[in-house]
Amino acid sequence: MPAPKPEPASKPEPAPKTEDTPKSEDGARPEGDVVHVDFEFRRELAKKVEGNLANFCYQCGACVGDCPAAIYSDKFNPREIMLQVLYGLEPELLGEESVLWLCTNCYNCHERCPQEVKPVEVILSLKNMLADRGLISAGVERVIKTFETTGRTVPASTAVDRQREKFGLSPMPAVPVDEIRTLLEEPPEDGPDPVVEKEISPHPVTRTDRFAFFPGCLIPARYPAMEKAIRRTLETLGVKLVDMEGASCCPDPIYFKSKDKLSWLTVAARNLSLAEELGLDVVTNCSGCTATLSEAWHLLHDSELLEKVDRRLRRIGRRYHGTTRVRHVATVLRDCIGIGRIRDSVVRPLEGLQIAIHYGCHLLKPSAVMRVDDPNDPRMMEDLVGALGAEPVRHHNWHLCCGKACQEEDLPANMMRDLLTSVREEDAELLCLICPTCFGQFDHGQMKIAQRFEEDFHIPSIYYMQLLAFAQGVPYDELGLERHRFKPECLRRFEKSA
Ligand code: SF4
Ligand code: SF4
Repeated sequence: MPAPKPEPASKPEPAPKTEDTPKSEDGARPEGDVVHVDFEFRRELAKKVEGNLANFCYQCGACVGDCPAAIYSDKFNPREIMLQVLYGLEPELLGEESVLWLCTNCYNCHERCPQEVKPVEVILSLKNMLADRGLISAGVERVIKTFETTGRTVPASTAVDRQREKFGLSPMPAVPVDEIRTLLEEPPEDGPDPVVEKEISPHPVTRTDRFAFFPGCLIPARYPAMEKAIRRTLETLGVKLVDMEGASCCPDPIYFKSKDKLSWLTVAARNLSLAEELGLDVVTNCSGCTATLSEAWHLLHDSELLEKVDRRLRRIGRRYHGTTRVRHVATVLRDCIGIGRIRDSVVRPLEGLQIAIHYGCHLLKPSAVMRVDDPNDPRMMEDLVGALGAEPVRHHNWHLCCGKACQEEDLPANMMRDLLTSVREEDAELLCLICPTCFGQFDHGQMKIAQRFEEDFHIPSIYYMQLLAFAQGVPYDELGLERHRFKPECLRRFEKSA
């Protein structure tokens, strides 16, 4: 990986002189020594969720050193983006070739900023402004359209249901798309008061052996074998999953959040309200879903934001109470079941098997919201892999993002190449992940990287819950592993030990 750029800059940037900008008709700023701040632009940005946070930036540069987009591209620098926001440089920020799409949504800047500016959130708010101007990236727009039409980012289909059937799973349930579309609209200011048709009573949530199951879109539609492994392993460990009828996409924290943060928050609140109706905490199986639902829970402690979201929810007869907590299935394993019980459930100890681990970004960051583990030195996955008798291995680029959110080709390709090289250097036989998006990047994505750089990595990867199911005695051939681009054949040698 290239060395981090030296930041902060040796000389602090001069403070902007705060004269409001008299713009000419073509939108150009007047020339001269005084920098005119476009307060109108800043006021517009401040209307977006967390769009006013750049005001607290004092240009220290702490957000730059660990920013993968800044490390892998000379065009991108979060400190400079915050400075442009402070000056209100709309043409530089929101042009057709905006560099904002290079951001990988890794949240490192959020972790590093001493001023709690959350640069990634400011960047997402700026992307919302790009979307308002019809300047959304084509890849992002495609995913958003799918969500707006189907309520999912990966829709159900007969082909998907056939695959699910092979694993004994029922068809993907329908999403009430009309409800979702209503939530995406801003309620009219002067319209009649929205009517609440149904009040949902908040239930006290205390159970650690029963959860509302939020499978998201990617696992049920693309990786049903992962869903099957979750249902099987948790049942073996005495945890009951209750399906959430009518749940939609979380919605995803990369694409849909880039378009409209308030709608993103509202749809997430609707999903949480479904779990509230069941009186249960939510368990998720994807780091993206966990991030969206956890962030929604966190943000909706702000009463002003809650009121805006509630206005929309009331139009579909729902309320959000904030009683349901969100857990990733990995934390259910660690905190509710316990490493000891997992170890006791193993009938095929994976002794002598070296397994590299990739945490991904959204499971751990922003740490103040996720509260899963130390983002700078996590142990959870090592402990979970160790419980299966295997030897967890930390590769030196373990903290690097897979680059999925970046809307450019070269940057994520170079990141993935460095990640794969780092894993290969450890001589691990397998890579273990706990997020289906990361899995896609390492499995299918690995083929593209191998072709592009003419390198052969051959690193098989596996979702932790499938690995757990195997260690609990589920036959290799029932785990859907034959669908992986790189098959974890190394597990075959443990088959006879059950
Ligand atoms: S989220 Fe990651 S890529 Fe985006 S600005 Fe922050 S550190 Fe850089
Ligand atoms: S966003 Fe935070 S870390 Fe980055 S330059 Fe501003 S104050 Fe420093």
